[in-house]
Amino acid sequence: MKKHNFSAGPCILPQEVLKKAANAVTNFNGIDLSLIEISHRSKEFVEVMEKARSLVKELLNLPEGYSVLFLQGGASLEFLMTPYNLLKVNGKAGYFDTGTWSSKAIKEAKTLGEVDVFASSKDKGYNYIPKNYNIPSDIDYVHCTSNNTIFGTQIKEFPKTDALLVCDMSSDIFSRELDFTQFDLVYAGAQKNMGPAGTTLVIVKDEILGKTGRSIPSMLDYQVHLSKDSMFNTPPVFAVYVSMLTLEWLKEQGGVKAIEKINQEKAALLYAEVDRNPLFIGFANKEDRSTMNVTFNLTNETHKDTFDKLWNEAGINGLKGHKSVGGYRASIYNAMPIESIKVLINVMQQFEKQVS
Ligand SMILES: *Cc1c(COP(=O)(O)O)cnc(C)c1O
Repeated sequence: MKKHNFSAGPCILPQEVLKKAANAVTNFNGIDLSLIEISHRSKEFVEVMEKARSLVKELLNLPEGYSVLFLQGGASLEFLMTPYNLLKVNGKAGYFDTGTWSSKAIKEAKTLGEVDVFASSKDKGYNYIPKNYNIPSDIDYVHCTSNNTIFGTQIKEFPKTDALLVCDMSSDIFSRELDFTQFDLVYAGAQKNMGPAGTTLVIVKDEILGKTGRSIPSMLDYQVHLSKDSMFNTPPVFAVYVSMLTLEWLKEQGGVKAIEKINQEKAALLYAEVDRNPLFIGFANKEDRSTMNVTFNLTNETHKDTFDKLWNEAGINGLKGHKSVGGYRASIYNAMPIESIKVLINVMQQFEKQVS
C-alpha cells in the first residue's frame, strides 16, 4: 500500500498523474516514443507546453496582459531574476521577511542593489506574519512569500503598495483563490503543489519588463524567455508534462475554488486535533496558520520516540519538521487525501492514550 505522504517537497502528487506520467515515459500518446526522447520542438511537446500554460491561466483566472513561463533553476533562481528584471540601476526594493525563503530572496537581491526589509517576524522565530508596517514609497517593488513552508505561516492579506508586487508562491499556488491583478510577478517551484522538481512557474505582467536600465544575461531575462515561449533553451520536458497532468487533475476536481474548500476542511481537521490534544502545541500564530504546512511540537519531548514509532508504523512519511525548527510538519498540499489526515489524527489520539 502507498504510504501517507506528508513530505514538504518534493511532495505528494495525485496517483493517476503518476500513472499517466509513467506511461508517457515509455510510450507517449501512442506515438511509440518516450516523452523524454522526442524534440521539445515536436508538435507533441509544443502542445504540452501550450496546454500547461493555458491551464495555468484558466485555473488562476489570470487577467489579460499576464504571461506564463516554465523555467528552470527553481524558486531559488527567481530570487535573483526578480531584482535583475525589476530593480532599477541605483534603485531600491522592499522585502517582507517572513522566514527562511524570504531571507534567501533578500540575500540575492542585495547582490544587485539596495534592499529595505520593511517588516520581519524574525524576532519571534518566524511564527507569525507582521501586520503593522510601513512600506517605503521610494522602491521599485515589494517582495513577499505567500506561504512559509518551513514555519507554517501564510499571508492572508497581501501588502498594499503602489510599487510592483512580487510574490513567491512556491508552496501554496493553486491552493486558494486569489485576485491576481494585485500581483505583477509571481513565481513558484513546481515541486510543492504543482508537479515534480525541475521547473519553475513564472507569471509576469508583460508591461513591467524592460524598465531597469540594466543589462541582463539572456538566461536571467524574462523578456528573452517570453519571446521564445519558454523555449529559449531546452525546457524541462518531463517536469512541464507532469505539471500539465496535475493541472488537468485539478481542473477535474473542480478547480481552485473547489480544492480551496477541501484544503480548508483538511487543515481545520488537523489543527483541531493539534489544539485539542494536550500532547501537542501548534507552532504558528493561530490567525496566520498555513493551510498547506501544519507545524507543531510535542509539549513533552520525552515522548518523542513513542510518537515517532507510532506514525512510522502507521505508514506515514515525511512528518519530521524542517531541521531549522524541529518538531513536526504535516504538509497537506492539494493532492493529499483527507483519509491520510485522518490516519495521522488517529495516530495522535492513539499516542495520547498510550502515554497518559
Ligand atoms: C521550497 C521553496 C523554495 C525553494 O525552491 P527551489 O525550487 O528548491 O529553489 C522557495 N520558496 C518557497 C516558499 C519554498 O517553499
